[in-house]
Amino acid sequence: MITVKNLTKWYQTGETSFQVLKGIDLEIAQGEFVAVMGPSGSGKSTLLNLLGGLDTPDSGEVSIGGKSIHDLQERERTLFRRKNVGFVFQNYQLLPAMTVEENIAFPMEAEGLPKSVVKATVSSLVKAVHLQGKEGNFPSQLSGGQQQRVSIARALAMKPSVILADEPTGNLDRKTGTEVLDLLLSLQQQDRLTIIMVTHDVFSASYADRIIFLRDGVIEMDIKHKEGDKHDVLAGILALLNT
Ligand code: ADP
Ligand code: MG
Repeated sequence: MITVKNLTKWYQTGETSFQVLKGIDLEIAQGEFVAVMGPSGSGKSTLLNLLGGLDTPDSGEVSIGGKSIHDLQERERTLFRRKNVGFVFQNYQLLPAMTVEENIAFPMEAEGLPKSVVKATVSSLVKAVHLQGKEGNFPSQLSGGQQQRVSIARALAMKPSVILADEPTGNLDRKTGTEVLDLLLSLQQQDRLTIIMVTHDVFSASYADRIIFLRDGVIEMDIKHKEGDKHDVLAGILALLNT
């Protein structure tokens, strides 16, 4: 579903250039729930942004559903991204002057969908993320967990096949973080969405069925859980995080 071939990315700061991704190869199947872990600065957010076409690599290729996204012209790539990829960020990135309903409707309105479709979709998404009764609230009138659920509903509005989530529980306490993780898990299990989630927390990673560990721009480990060995895998990751 998602194929990454020899992806590299450099950042230029003044006179110096710095290679943040050093040739990433990856295949992610439809319906996988992948956690991307690794020390701060290891390139996790950069990788996620490249996967979703928010940023361009220096070399290599990302294809989603057989389409090589970085070969597309910028305009086409934006359209492809809006239709196929839903983004979720640590700080929610909701529009503060818009209500819950308006935030969720936004991508559909930008796409020019008919009002009746937008209305029906918003109403079913509000239910799916358990925010009935909050439709008219502004983001500032919601808890962090509720805001994150609005951002997930918004990410789902265009019926993407993949959700890319960058530390979605990073600002949440365990209880509200768990609600967000349960929601992501149900999207994977019921709707076969592919979920790629950056996290530095082992509890969040335990929701995934595959863990990719990035260090200094290379994949140091890529482990799929087999039935029953999840605990050992997480213990291994915990040990790695401490090295
Ligand atoms: P992570 O998400 O794993 O913490 P990032 O992908 O955000 O890592 O960043 C990886 C490295 O690239 C860090 O050292 C960071 O400082 C650097 N970096 C990230 N974005 C930029 C940028 N726009 N310009 C220059 N350096 C950047
Ligand atoms: Mg990051």
